[in-house]
Amino acid sequence: MLLITVDTLRADHVGAYNPAFTSATPNLDRLAQKSVVFLQAWSPVPLTTPAHASILTGLTPARHGVRLNGAQALPDTIPTLATELQSQGWETGAFVAAYVLSRRFGLARGFATYDDQIPMPAYAGTRLEAERPASQVVDKAIEWLKARSGKRFFLWVHLYEPHAPYQPPAPFATQFPDSPYTGEVAAADAQIGRLLDELERMGLGEQTVIAVAGDHGEALGEHGESTHGLLLYEATLRVPLMVAAPGLAAGSRLSTPVSLVDVAPTLMHLAGAQPTLQAQGSDLAPFLLRQKEPPETTLFAETLYPTSFGWAALLAARKQQWKYVAAPKPELYNLATDPAEAANLVGQGVPAEKALREALGDYVAAATSGNSVELDAEARRQLESLGYIAPSSPTPQTAADPKDRVRVFTLFEQAHALRLAGDPVQARTVLQEALAEDPQNPVLLAEQAEVLRAAGDPAAAVGVLRRVLELNPADREARYNLALALREAGREEEARQALEAAIRLDPGRPELHEALGLVYAARGAFPQAKDEFSRACQLDPHNPRVWNNLGNVLRELGELAAAEEAYRHAIALDPAFAEPWNGLGVLQVLAGKTEEAIASFNRALELAPNYLEVLFNMAIAWDEAGQREKAAQAYTTFIKKAQNNPQFSSQVSAARRLLARISPTANGG
Ligand SMILES: [Zn+2]
Repeated sequence: MLLITVDTLRADHVGAYNPAFTSATPNLDRLAQKSVVFLQAWSPVPLTTPAHASILTGLTPARHGVRLNGAQALPDTIPTLATELQSQGWETGAFVAAYVLSRRFGLARGFATYDDQIPMPAYAGTRLEAERPASQVVDKAIEWLKARSGKRFFLWVHLYEPHAPYQPPAPFATQFPDSPYTGEVAAADAQIGRLLDELERMGLGEQTVIAVAGDHGEALGEHGESTHGLLLYEATLRVPLMVAAPGLAAGSRLSTPVSLVDVAPTLMHLAGAQPTLQAQGSDLAPFLLRQKEPPETTLFAETLYPTSFGWAALLAARKQQWKYVAAPKPELYNLATDPAEAANLVGQGVPAEKALREALGDYVAAATSGNSVELDAEARRQLESLGYIAPSSPTPQTAADPKDRVRVFTLFEQAHALRLAGDPVQARTVLQEALAEDPQNPVLLAEQAEVLRAAGDPAAAVGVLRRVLELNPADREARYNLALALREAGREEEARQALEAAIRLDPGRPELHEALGLVYAARGAFPQAKDEFSRACQLDPHNPRVWNNLGNVLRELGELAAAEEAYRHAIALDPAFAEPWNGLGVLQVLAGKTEEAIASFNRALELAPNYLEVLFNMAIAWDEAGQREKAAQAYTTFIKKAQNNPQFSSQVSAARRLLARISPTANGG
């Protein structure tokens, strides 16, 4: 069995659903011809982690408890497709493309192989690295298929391309110049084609149950929403779903609304497995096998994401053509005559209104609180770089209707994206507009503080973060950011106190220890710094930045072998991280291995061409190696690039002296 989930894929951007897009999705369309295509498939929640938990368990978010990205893990008592098929002797493997599906969120259970190796960027704020391209995911999945033992298998492949920001790879960027989102859809489709072709080549194409689903759609501006997660309109709830399996009528199309919670029980049946899932979704297989429409049931959808902003959660119920959205200002639509959801029929005596509202009462009653997973530094950084901000603590509830806040939300998204893209000035302008409309919003204020920090105004950030903590004293993230801002503002002692206090509340958070280590290192208290960095590495061994910091402190303490080990660890975790190459080069200079040192510095400069400290270190290495000409050249380059940077004034003077010694005629700029 092969389950492919394509993140953020709108049904109407797939050729099988909309002929305008056949050029984007030739491979999905080819699969559609041998599949049953569900024309009205609904996501139970327009958020990645919760939606995938529903796909794998057959449960709604209210029941499985995963309701936000990066906030809760699937409880390990809940059976999934993977746990059930594995216990029935199947070989299981999963390959996911985004950090929001990493194993910490509980979806890995039952998968003998769960490949969530998303490259971890050492430089925070670059988003590209927090996902991996479909080509890499599919490469790994194909390797797994080739290596399987021959038992029945369940392979889940997750592709992330259509998720924002839209940066399609060649040739799709040029093929769809006016719609980069479509370009990303096409990029995912091409990789699906590779995977399906490989299955054919292995002779498994006909006997394998193959399902493709979107986890949710993308609003693309409809109802004012740009992406997904805030509102519950069809743009983000309607997803493509197609299933090909032996015995199913190829190319048939079903128009009965079905939910992604129906996927797991249906696939279990089609694959001939024992139906041991405790799913809420329906097993549609009996109807598919008899080429009949399944009976109409009531479908549910929710989003709790607006509560992060202090706005109301949304719930929706749908039966036949009727859709009801529970909100401070409720909505009722006839999707058959009004697919754009333009005419709100609430209060006009439509009988479906009462029935759907009552059905939602039962949905809420089934809710569980979910269990919160404490996020470590790595998790938070990667989620943030993907554009997900999960609430680190409850925010005060006001009843603002999210649809009345789309403008604020869109401005927040823009500001956040601008900050991550390295434009805090523009981010600040955009955020001011949002704050003008909603001045006490804790998420906006917290973002404002981050923008101020990024813009080099940590003192102002301190003030804003104190306000966030007044509004919400339990906001641990704000407490941490306050300590960082204090340190950046040169208030080291206050930062140390803030961090000590935060660690007492939260001793297991690695980034607190990292930040405290930096405070100690800055004041030359290297043994204490070493303790803190070591603790951070213990708590979160996958963070290259902390290993590099540990290397620096060990170097200061003269523990050179341990320092080298720490640097090499950092490099292994992120080969594109320049700092540990510099550290390694310095160790090599100290050991008299100048050739190796020069190679290390060159590597650092390839990764970061304007890394001034490395330019200086490189000159010294050439000097030590007795290569006067190269040393002179390197000193000159360093002086040129660093002479206007006050941080490097002492190194520039030193470089001038050293240059004068080896090359008395040069003046070094
Ligand atoms: Zn998603």
